[in-house]
Amino acid sequence: MADKNDKVEGNAEGKWYVDETCIACGICLEFSKKLELDYDIGFCKVTSQPKNADEERGLTQAKDVCPVEAIGDDGA
Ligand code: SF4
Repeated sequence: MADKNDKVEGNAEGKWYVDETCIACGICLEFSKKLELDYDIGFCKVTSQPKNADEERGLTQAKDVCPVEAIGDDGA
């Protein structure tokens, strides 16, 4: 389970975030445009918080498929 105390630097402020257990596999990117792989730091991060149900659903799917449970929704 993702840990809000271990957020990747650069996540958009809010409830959705990626933590530092991310292994930069890129699978989540297929499910949400709110996620971006930052090759400089080697982690994925949330670029902006969802603004509607579709975007929320995409992040929920990304959270569900992440193999290391690095995506959290309890950040705020
Ligand atoms: S699916 Fe998980 S481990 Fe893979 S890039 Fe996304 S947040 Fe990181």
